[in-house]
Amino acid sequence: MDIIFKNVEHRYQAQTPFEKRALYDIDLEIKTGSYVAVIGHTGSGKSTLLQHLNGLLQPTKGSVTIGDRTIVGGKKEKNLKPLRKKVGIVFQFPEHQLFEETVEKDICFGPINFGVSEEEAKRKAKECLSLVGLPEEVLTKSPFELSGGQMRRVAIAGVLAMEPEVLVLDEPTAGLDPRGRKEIMDMFARLHQQKQLTIVLVTHSMEDAARYADEIVIMNKGTIVKKGTPEEIFSDVTSLMELGLDVPETVLFKHLLESKIGEAIPSTCLTIEE
Ligand code: ADP
Repeated sequence: MDIIFKNVEHRYQAQTPFEKRALYDIDLEIKTGSYVAVIGHTGSGKSTLLQHLNGLLQPTKGSVTIGDRTIVGGKKEKNLKPLRKKVGIVFQFPEHQLFEETVEKDICFGPINFGVSEEEAKRKAKECLSLVGLPEEVLTKSPFELSGGQMRRVAIAGVLAMEPEVLVLDEPTAGLDPRGRKEIMDMFARLHQQKQLTIVLVTHSMEDAARYADEIVIMNKGTIVKKGTPEEIFSDVTSLMELGLDVPETVLFKHLLESKIGEAIPSTCLTIEE
């Protein structure tokens, strides 16, 4: 399912004295099966952009096409439920949205709400729990008995249980320790490879963008200022620095070496254990 943004503008509280323009003239194409990282300072428009991916926000001008659905700016589109199923968003601190008595009920909530039978939803809950690396006995526990990292995995399993074609991740590792961060990011990489899931990742981590994404989009003040493969993006470090973005030495070193020897160096070779 390709996603195409054409001249997208978004104004919050449009035509009121509180109007705030958050996106200007965004053109972006996200191909089926790609892994795109979106980077930019706080307030650059990343969250606003990603909420257009499933119609949570709609453009005030331009259009967003998601598969066979086009949302045209200025029109209030309805019946966005099918889109919400196809595009799953994992918001920051998704564990804050857990509320059921058991993990199983929490994961089953979305599918049952979309008309899946209880039996089928339970099957999916089991499968998704294993996808996020948690054992089956967790199903009967209260989500609130679990550790923070486990709760986050349960919340992610709830999004996966909807079987989305596109997974949108807004800072999915915020607040986790370095080991937990790597485990979660490796889990998304596996899902991307095994299930051909399209992934759109909003992150502050250049290292994660360099390591996992095949395309990087850089936002600044509501516009896309740069996009390209990690190689293209990191071959012009000066402009990243001009934007005030910190490029870690490991990322710089890797791309500098690659440009010298002409071969990709696996990021794992340069990992410094934190
Ligand atoms: P980011 O995710 O990169 O931090 P956001 O998309 O959250 O950026 O915000 C982009 C701009 O839109 C910011 O100036 C922010 O203050 C503004 N903004 C975000 N949400 C709202 C809202 N609900 N109402 C008004 N302005 C908002």
